[in-house]
Amino acid sequence: MKSFRKVLTQHTNSRRAFVNITRDVAAAVAESGIREGLCLVNSMHITSSIFINDNESGLHQDMEKWLETLAPEKPHSRYAHNGYEDNADAHLKRSIMGREAVVAVTGGKLDLGTWEAIFYGEFDGKRDKRLLIKIIGE
Ligand code: ZN
Repeated sequence: MKSFRKVLTQHTNSRRAFVNITRDVAAAVAESGIREGLCLVNSMHITSSIFINDNESGLHQDMEKWLETLAPEKPHSRYAHNGYEDNADAHLKRSIMGREAVVAVTGGKLDLGTWEAIFYGEFDGKRDKRLLIKIIGE
């Protein structure tokens, strides 16, 4: 069995953003040379997520609104964690949207559904964040 590891850096200019990283992950699969296996992508930070969904801007606006309903950023004073920082909402959003995605690798390509795309969800940005790609197979 072969394994391949790659770390990518994301830096968003806004506190919150959704970034389509499907091409970056596909490039890592090609670089790995693995034809059949599994590809894990995970955020290495506790205030950002990896998730799979539709690449449609209306849906992204809906997700942003939905997350703000569940875990509003402000007022910062509503959260106990914010005695220490101001990003409690980002931790909660990350919990809802998840840490990682796993995609099958078939014939050397990501085996995604027709409308599936891989996203990096940033909830406390404006700084460098790392995400890990790990591919195993042969
Ligand atoms: Zn925090």
